[in-house]
Amino acid sequence: MSEAPSRQTIRACGACSLCCKLLPIAALDKPHDRWCLHCRPGNGGCTIYETRPQTCRDFACSWLAEPAVGEHWYPLKSKMVVQITGGHDDKYDIFIDVHVDKGAPDAWRAEPYYSELQRMSAAHRTLVRVFFGSRTWIMLPDQEIEVKRA
Ligand code: SF4
Ligand code: SF4
Repeated sequence: MSEAPSRQTIRACGACSLCCKLLPIAALDKPHDRWCLHCRPGNGGCTIYETRPQTCRDFACSWLAEPAVGEHWYPLKSKMVVQITGGHDDKYDIFIDVHVDKGAPDAWRAEPYYSELQRMSAAHRTLVRVFFGSRTWIMLPDQEIEVKRA
């Protein structure tokens, strides 16, 4: 989103705008994996910053907001946007979603990311999911399983 979101963060987006490409924005009728029409990536970011939708105002990826997410997850470099959310599920309390840029299909399989995703999937009541285009994988400590997207 390129400038500070309204929620508290520990880092700065800098030249990154990757969430404006990878994530869907219902208020803008923007699908995932397509640049928002209002974004100038690497050239100032959001062109409607003052009037951007509330979804955009509230959003901060977990690299931006969570100290536990390492510096190497910077989306501009890792080509992945990580979102950690609390769960409302019988089985899970934490959801770790990794959205992979279509231009870097193997980014999540590279190290140190892959081993880190496996480690995270071993945490109690934690579900780690990788999204790439129309494909989704569930990470397990020793493998990944491709699943049909709901
Ligand atoms: S993906 Fe994260 S770091 Fe990049 S613009 Fe969005 S909130 Fe900022
Ligand atoms: S409106 Fe602005 S902040 Fe929201 S997705 Fe588009 S470019 Fe990004």
